[in-house]
Order: sequence, then structure tokens, then C-alpha cells
Amino acid sequence: MQVYKFGGASVKDAKAIKNVAKIVSGVQEQLCVVVSAMGKTTNALEILHDQWFKNLSFEETLQSISDFHLSISNELELEINNCLWKQQIQTLEDKLNTISKVSFDNSYDQIIPFGEIISTSLLHDYWNKIALNHQFIMATDFVITDNLHRESRVQWSTTQSKIIDLKNNTNVLLTQGFIGSTASGEWTTLGREGSDYSASIFAHCLDANQLTIWKDVPGMLNADPKKQSDAQIIDKISYQEAIELAYYGASVIHPKTIQPLESKNISLRIASFVNPQLPGTLIGHFPGLHYPSCYIEKENQTLISISTKDFSFVVEDNIVEIFHHLHQLGIKVQLMENSALSFTLCIQCEPHKLQALITALENKYAIRYNEGVKLLTIRHYHASDLMKMENQSVLMEQKNRTTVRWVIQ
Ligand code: ASP
Ligand code: MG
Repeated sequence: MQVYKFGGASVKDAKAIKNVAKIVSGVQEQLCVVVSAMGKTTNALEILHDQWFKNLSFEETLQSISDFHLSISNELELEINNCLWKQQIQTLEDKLNTISKVSFDNSYDQIIPFGEIISTSLLHDYWNKIALNHQFIMATDFVITDNLHRESRVQWSTTQSKIIDLKNNTNVLLTQGFIGSTASGEWTTLGREGSDYSASIFAHCLDANQLTIWKDVPGMLNADPKKQSDAQIIDKISYQEAIELAYYGASVIHPKTIQPLESKNISLRIASFVNPQLPGTLIGHFPGLHYPSCYIEKENQTLISISTKDFSFVVEDNIVEIFHHLHQLGIKVQLMENSALSFTLCIQCEPHKLQALITALENKYAIRYNEGVKLLTIRHYHASDLMKMENQSVLMEQKNRTTVRWVIQ
């Protein structure tokens, strides 16, 4: 069994969808195909949900989402009246008109999954047209999670017992990334860019030999090629190193992807859907490899410094309190440092969450913060990397034997 994951860019237009069908048709083994929303549809759905949640008019946004898929559908010459994707748009519209606003995160999970559902439905319509034998399944029937909406955690034993039923299926399975549901059937999502993780969940539960993530880059690179023209492909990388890179923000794979694969020794291949014949990057149990310097930049971070107002030390109970709020608000901490009187964190969050954090803490603490800062991480750094930083405005630095991290203005 093989699992293939196709992200938004690999299904962004009719040409890309034909290319996916070509890649899938070439596979002789049993195959499970996990697909994301097309192009930037998830962002559009987030806008739609936002408007709907604020009781603003959302019809135009809905129409543009529908039009985007319609133009792809027309280019693929699908018979619109028989299309499953078109029915899904209708279901989305019905839902917007009927469901109640429970909480922002809960209703997010009832709306945003339509990106993946419409995308896979359109693929299903096209695969039917070209007679690519397959079975369309709803990931929400198989990936069971808790109800921590927008960041839901997989309930492994239930998920495993559901997915096991798919193991003997000889058809190509076609399903959605990013989405799941609670045991009681309420939809959930696994966090933005979570489709890689979904593919890894399916690979784990299906005992796949390999998971291939098809990307628009030729493999895992040691830097962003848009920022560094000499970025190079890493042919082979250990699970551990891949987790570290993903953790520090290398956006090529979702950080949670590796663990379910590692525990069953399932290799992960990052390959290019533009040049499918190239080897790409292979991730597995490869001890003792040497790596080049790997550069990871994260823009749009906030550096926030939290100090006591009365000159008392910031001690464990203050830190517990601060983390309680961070956890409640679902804010991710990238880097932290404490001194006698203050605790400084580099975080990434939406402006309304930053504001909520400040509100929760400002009675007791003095808060200072810098928005829009950059976090640069270098794994396997060299002396020359350190020298390059000398004339930058560094707000915070952390360094150990393998990794150096800077928050830069
Ligand atoms: N469509 C979702 C997102 O854009 C999930 C994914 O692409 O992995 O975040
Ligand atoms: Mg996406």
C-alpha cells in the first residue's frame, strides 16, 4: 500500500488536476490518495466564515469560491448537473443558512472542511469521467478526533479501528486531508496545513510502505529558494532531523507528519509533481548522516516581554500563569527566555489573540511587545553564518551546538 498526498498547489487548476490523474494512474500497487483544498480555497473559506460569523454579507465570497471551481470544472469538461462538487457547494450554502453560531472555532470546523470536500468531489467527478477506478471516502468517517476545534487531536485507537476496514480495498481510495470528526460526528480540523498529517495518519493505520508528499519543489531544500538562490536539495534525511526542521518552521512538511510514520518505519518521500521522475528527498531511519546548514525563516512573529510591576521576580508560578493563558488561547510559542524580572516570548498568533493575551495579563504585568519581527533558525550552522548576523538588529539570540536562533527586527 502506498499513500500519496497532493496539496493545494498540485490541484490549483485543470492542468494540475490532469497531472495528478496521470501520476495516480501510473501506480500498480494499492493506493490511498489524500488531497487538500484547491489553490488558496482555504483562505477564501476563512474569509467566508469570518463574514458569516460577524453577520456580514458573505454571498459574494461564496460565489467566488463556486466560480473558481466552476471554471476548473468547465475546463475539465465535466457535466455540471451530475457533479458531486456542485452538490457540496449547495450543502455548504445550506449549512451557512441553517447552523447556529456556537463558537468561532467550532463553526470554523463546520465550514472550512468544504475546501477539501469540494476539491476531492471535483477530483471524483473528473476521475469518473476518465474512468479512473476509485472509491471516494469521507475522511470525517475515518479520522476520529477530540473536540479541540481547529487543532483537534487524533483518537488513535478509534481511528485505527475504522481505517483498518479500508485495508483490503483494491480500488484507489480518494479522501480529504486536514479534516476529521469527533466520535459523535461533529466535524473537526487538524490545524492549518494539516493535510500532510492526515496522509501520515492514513499511512500509519493502513500499514503503508511509503507516503509520498507531492510538492511544487523538487524535495526538501536547505533554504527557501526564493530567498537563497544556492538552496540545495537534501537527498536523504533522518526522521529526527526532519522533525527538528519541521518544528523550527521548515514549511515543507507539517510538524506532526513524521511521528506516525516513524513508529511504523514507513518512509516518507517528498517528490515534485512537476518532475515526478526525480528522486526527491527520502526520510527514514538514517543514522549518522551529515547535513548542510539549513536556514528557516519565519516572518510575522511577535516578541512579547512580560514583567512584574512591583520588581518581584518572575518565578515558576508566574510562568505557569502565563502558559495557562497561552494554552487557553492556543498561541504557539516559538522561543522563550527569562530573566529576574521578565519573561520574553517569541510567539506567532492572530492579532485578536495577542490582544486577548495582553488583556489577560496586563493587570498584573507590564507588557511590551514588538510585532512583525522575524525568527531565523539555522540548523548545523557554521562560523560564517554567525558572522553574517553581525550587522543585523538582533533582539534575541539562542544558540546550542547544532542550532542557532535569532529574533530580528
Ligand atoms: N487546506 C488546508 C490549509 O490550507 C489544509 C492543507 O492544505 O494542508 O491549511
Ligand atoms: Mg491548503
